[in-house]
Amino acid sequence: MKISKLFLYDEPSVPEIDLENLSKFIKKSFNIDVEIRKNIFNFFTFPKNEICNQLASCRIFDTRKPFERHMPSQEEIDFEMKTITDSNLLKNIIMYDGFEFQRIVSFLIPENERIMNNFHLIITNKLTCTYDNRDYRYHGRAVICSNPSIISTTGIVEAPAKPKEYYRHLMLNMLQGLNVENAKKKFHGTYLDYHDSKLSRVIEGYAMQATFYFLTGEAFCESKECRLHNAHWQQDLLYSQIKIGKLCHRHEQILQQLLCE
Ligand SMILES: [Zn+2]
Repeated sequence: MKISKLFLYDEPSVPEIDLENLSKFIKKSFNIDVEIRKNIFNFFTFPKNEICNQLASCRIFDTRKPFERHMPSQEEIDFEMKTITDSNLLKNIIMYDGFEFQRIVSFLIPENERIMNNFHLIITNKLTCTYDNRDYRYHGRAVICSNPSIISTTGIVEAPAKPKEYYRHLMLNMLQGLNVENAKKKFHGTYLDYHDSKLSRVIEGYAMQATFYFLTGEAFCESKECRLHNAHWQQDLLYSQIKIGKLCHRHEQILQQLLCE
């Protein structure tokens, strides 16, 4: 698959993404035209009530059950209305079924823009999750690869797990009546936090995974020495994206081949 143009949608509540820089990175890496757009919910016009109803209905309340459509209350629909207009207002972590979320936002894109070679990459602070049949539960996901692809900034922070010692320390702190901040301070730098300055580098890797998926049908790499590594641990995420910060030999070759086509 070829890309004639990539549309990159902003998440204004997370300025650390540095969209200008991300756009330059994608342009340079894949030699494609990139257009920066506002947050998807503020860019297109669509029936707000209907879309907010759908968004509220794909919320996950029980992580141990496969997807079941939720019957949203008016309060939940109003909450969606408020937070899609101003994503800064989304303070709590709310889980959404990632595939449903992807399906809903894909309908925001007008048909004439949903042509094959247009690739839409949407950044959101909503937490996308998918149900895993191997352990029968929902997990947070940093990226949902499709067209449009979704990158969840909350997913980047919450989906790859923090070091095991962090959770042990956190439990111990809680038993002693200490707060989360204490554990955070002790393990600072071993994981990505909200509004972390490293986010701009890390999100490049996820943008690469989504773009690779669109181009080749394969998003991830087994090797930690590669930006396409689908990290399950924060330590691995920081290692692949910050310390290594490049593709493995095999994927670099695939990329070079794509650029020559
Ligand atoms: Zn690789």
